[in-house]
Amino acid sequence: MSLTRPATEFAALIAGLRDFIDQEVIPREDLRSAHDGAAVQRLSAELGLRAQALGFGAPRLAVSEGGLGLSWEECCAFLEEAGRSFLGPAILQCAPPGQPDIAALEQLASPWQRQRYLDPLARGQSRSCFAMTEPAPGAGSDPRMLATTARRQGDGWVLDGHKWFISGAMRADFAIVVARSDNGVCWFLVDTSNPGFQVLRDIPSMEPFDVGGHAEILLKDCQLGPEALIGEEGKGLEYAQLRLEGARLFHCMRFIGLSSRAMDMAQDYAAQRQSHGARLAEHQMVQAMVANAHIDLYAARLMTLDVARRLDLGESIRHTSSMAKVFVSEAVNRVADSAVQITGALGISEDVPLSMILRMLRPFRIYDGASEVHRAAIAKRAFKQRLHA
Ligand SMILES: Cc1cc2nc3c(=O)[nH]c(=O)nc-3n(C[C@H](O)[C@H](O)[C@H](O)COP(=O)(O)OP(=O)(O)OC[C@H]3O[C@@H](n4cnc5c(N)ncnc54)[C@H](O)[C@@H]3O)c2cc1C
Repeated sequence: MSLTRPATEFAALIAGLRDFIDQEVIPREDLRSAHDGAAVQRLSAELGLRAQALGFGAPRLAVSEGGLGLSWEECCAFLEEAGRSFLGPAILQCAPPGQPDIAALEQLASPWQRQRYLDPLARGQSRSCFAMTEPAPGAGSDPRMLATTARRQGDGWVLDGHKWFISGAMRADFAIVVARSDNGVCWFLVDTSNPGFQVLRDIPSMEPFDVGGHAEILLKDCQLGPEALIGEEGKGLEYAQLRLEGARLFHCMRFIGLSSRAMDMAQDYAAQRQSHGARLAEHQMVQAMVANAHIDLYAARLMTLDVARRLDLGESIRHTSSMAKVFVSEAVNRVADSAVQITGALGISEDVPLSMILRMLRPFRIYDGASEVHRAAIAKRAFKQRLHA
């Protein structure tokens, strides 16, 4: 067990967070402005200040830096509570892409990069985005198809390429851009104010309460100094794997929270609504949906917790996080889908947040590795282990 504080103190923190989310955050979710990025951003900023004042911000940031300094294991409970609201992770400084960018830069940044980019990002004074995916025929599920180039110019670099679906880019101060040099895949720090970094558009998507959008970006003659290279040239794919492992775990935690909120709402509905002479809660097929959802949530929590404990112990989580990501992403979708089914037309409406929860969860089966790609990698490793057994 990786606990940074006494169990009673941690339980009080989680109980306080639950109250804050239930009483001050969920009531402020305005479903009518769920697709108004500017309104969501304003509200997030206001609630973020309130969260900070209550001492709830930045679960992974060290206590000395003003954060909570939680272990990965402790983050499971924290992120589950935060994730029950669409707005929770952003206002508690643990939403992607910032959180995984911080984790990656903590391991890779030079002293100059730390001071210029990481420290303000970790303190919530600046925002980042991570730019790897490209429209076809560039990199998507297969990162080896990366088409963005990085060529040497003097002692610096010039980047050229086309990126899309870059989360958070609409309000980011800098991007971590993945590009290919003569010596392999590399990571670069690029200020979004660089004239060679052009945001073409915010791509409309099915996700509600999106802060920072998903941008299409053109990198054209984007000139960088030598200090922009992160870590070592040629190690970019290794770094991307490292970044994704922690990132997908955070998604698992917060989406367990969001899907369990959907099931709570469905159960409340089923406890009241009558059909064919009985409450929905008394019909066995409804009971089966509720039971299956709780089995899914229980398994999802255990898998996520196990991977978090391994991360705390410094173990490799490549295989386990991949299995957890596939299971949890599909489980939370099943839970939210059943919640919509149980609530009938009300669940489809936007009078209540259920259909939005389903829309928020659906992309998780695609980003941070589509289920099919993870299954292929899991099977490959399983066969390899068998061959060496
Ligand atoms: C909401 C959202 C946010 C995102 N944020 C970011 C971001 O911040 N930064 C970033 O760089 N990218 C981001 N992405 C992009 C994401 O990483 C890619 O969508 C993902 O890697 C899949 O690539 P693709 O969309 O090009 O799909 P493709 O590679 O075209 O694949 C399409 C489908 O084909 C199937 N498939 C692909 N390969 C295989 C295979 N080997 N075996 C079997 N089936 C396969 C899968 O079902 C897959 O879903 C985001 C995407 C979404 C939806």
